[in-house]
Amino acid sequence: MLMTIRRQKVMSGLSTVGSALLLILPSTTAIAQVPAISPVTTINEAAAKPDIVLTPLRGNLTMVSGSGGNITVLTGSDGKFMVDGGISLSKSSIEGALAKISNAPLKYLVDTHYHWDHTDGNPWLHEAGATIVATTNTVKHLSTDTRVDDWKYTFKQMAPDGMPTVVINSPKTYHFDGETIVLTPVAPAHTDSDLYVYFKKADVVVLGDLFWNGVYPFIDNEQGGGIDGMIKVDNEILAVITDKTVVVPGHGPVGTRKDLVAFRDMLVGIRNNVAALKKQGKSLADVVAAKPTAAFDATFGKFVIGPDFFTKIVYDGLK
Ligand SMILES: [Zn+2]
Repeated sequence: MLMTIRRQKVMSGLSTVGSALLLILPSTTAIAQVPAISPVTTINEAAAKPDIVLTPLRGNLTMVSGSGGNITVLTGSDGKFMVDGGISLSKSSIEGALAKISNAPLKYLVDTHYHWDHTDGNPWLHEAGATIVATTNTVKHLSTDTRVDDWKYTFKQMAPDGMPTVVINSPKTYHFDGETIVLTPVAPAHTDSDLYVYFKKADVVVLGDLFWNGVYPFIDNEQGGGIDGMIKVDNEILAVITDKTVVVPGHGPVGTRKDLVAFRDMLVGIRNNVAALKKQGKSLADVVAAKPTAAFDATFGKFVIGPDFFTKIVYDGLK
């Protein structure tokens, strides 16, 4: 419920921006580009609010949402194992959420990819006891300032305390709290630094931003991501989960395999529409004007990434 309220705030903020632009700019294609306010600013403002929500998943797993990307926490006799750390603006709320889950000490933090809304909490969570695990390319991007023009934002180099110290390039298994936890790095998809985490016993898979449940995703073309990689990796994940699997997205509510199928189908549908127009030699402005996302907008177009922005992301990502 709180999540719904927050989303509406984000949406109303962006629609105000959109209306203002429409007043100034006569052409609908002029709003095709990145939103006037960086999505980073919008998401940080939302994260600064204290409305953190705990959602029990299955077994001793809980989703913590409200601080940028969703956070997943396993607790047990070995301590806490956390996937993604949210935004440090929410530190006190996240501390409260972790204490509410259990008093077990924090032992591990996995970064699903380098983006700030999943890694910004690294330094304080390391200080709180976490060994940080991530892919080589997450380490590479966190080691330097990273400009993302699509976000109109430059992410600052990670503080030394927040750097991952366990770096993986191939699947790695942890036996922890009676769980078998498999970390699987994947080929470039949302970025070139993605991994996903499968809690096998509970049958809970945590996908980071490989999956945005019910909304258009951001794809970081500038750091090696792309629409075709997203589709390929989501197909690989669909092949290893079942209808019983609990599927945790990077953004949006907890989902199922069916939700991931709907997301994949949306990606494929829009990819094919945009690719056909691009193949005809149409410019980005012309492709946006053709509304290649129209059939999906009512379902997926209501979050930070609007239809025109998503069209640009798909267009730019097609090789
Ligand atoms: Zn991301």
